[in-house]
Amino acid sequence: MRNFDLHCHSNVSDGVLAPASLAARAKARGVDVWALTDHDEVGGIAEARAAAASLGLPFVPGVEISITWAGQTVHIVGLHVDERNPVLLAGLALTRSGRELRAREMAGQLAAAGIPDAYEGALAYAGNPDLISRTHFARYIIDRGICRDVPSVFRNYLIEGKPGYVPHRWASLQQAVEWIRAAGGTAVIAHPGRYNFDAMAYDALFSEFKDLGGTAIEVITGSHTPDQYEEYARVAQRYGFLASRGSDFHGPGESRVDLGALPPLPSSVKPVWHDWVI
Ligand code: AMP
Ligand code: MN
Ligand code: MN
Ligand code: MN
Repeated sequence: MRNFDLHCHSNVSDGVLAPASLAARAKARGVDVWALTDHDEVGGIAEARAAAASLGLPFVPGVEISITWAGQTVHIVGLHVDERNPVLLAGLALTRSGRELRAREMAGQLAAAGIPDAYEGALAYAGNPDLISRTHFARYIIDRGICRDVPSVFRNYLIEGKPGYVPHRWASLQQAVEWIRAAGGTAVIAHPGRYNFDAMAYDALFSEFKDLGGTAIEVITGSHTPDQYEEYARVAQRYGFLASRGSDFHGPGESRVDLGALPPLPSSVKPVWHDWVI
């Protein structure tokens, strides 16, 4: 089976490596088909596509859109999007526009908690100032010796109930699916096991997503445990979703799962790439 890795991040969002370096790493790690899915931004796709082409690595242009659903942040991946589509570009620009203000408020809270200069500090880690993200704050806080690694920063500072967490309203599920479909893409619920919904809310999310024209969920992702691989394979079957696979790689030494390093999709599911000509 070919090694599809359909989820990762470059320094155009909150990844560490430039798109061309990611392409080289994907190739070196045995990825056969690779997608770049930066958060709320398609600015890395041209570089990624060119680098992949020079390596003979089939490439899928993608994006990972932040939405708010039932009060929580959920991520919707778009695969095979046309990154020049004006509807998608306008939607992503709108989504990015709240990040700076949120980051300034986060920095204010962190200063009150004894961590000064976090806005400038985080910005120094952001390859794209438009995309300042909690991950950049995490890297700054680690660099100051306050926490050991990214998960411990999140546990102590950047999640609900902790100093540094600022509630934020992203796009709606309907908008994200519409933007992806307008750009000719396939909408995929990213790492469904990572959200904090009860069974009824999950059912509502999956049903609403399907009604809106969403067709796939991630089953094998760096964010799932092996038990969740099985659980979401069953969800895919129950709702008639195609299944996707992606490492969600952000950087060497930072991400638990490297590019291409996940197990294959279970044979019980239909891969999201089943009808791709690639
Ligand atoms: P943002 O879009 O600015 O809210 O940042 C979200 C990003 O933070 C995600 O895409 C992950 O890369 C990272 N992240 C979120 N939660 C965690 C966590 N618990 N541990 C490590 N990284 C996380
Ligand atoms: Mn991220
Ligand atoms: Mn995500
Ligand atoms: Mn991701």
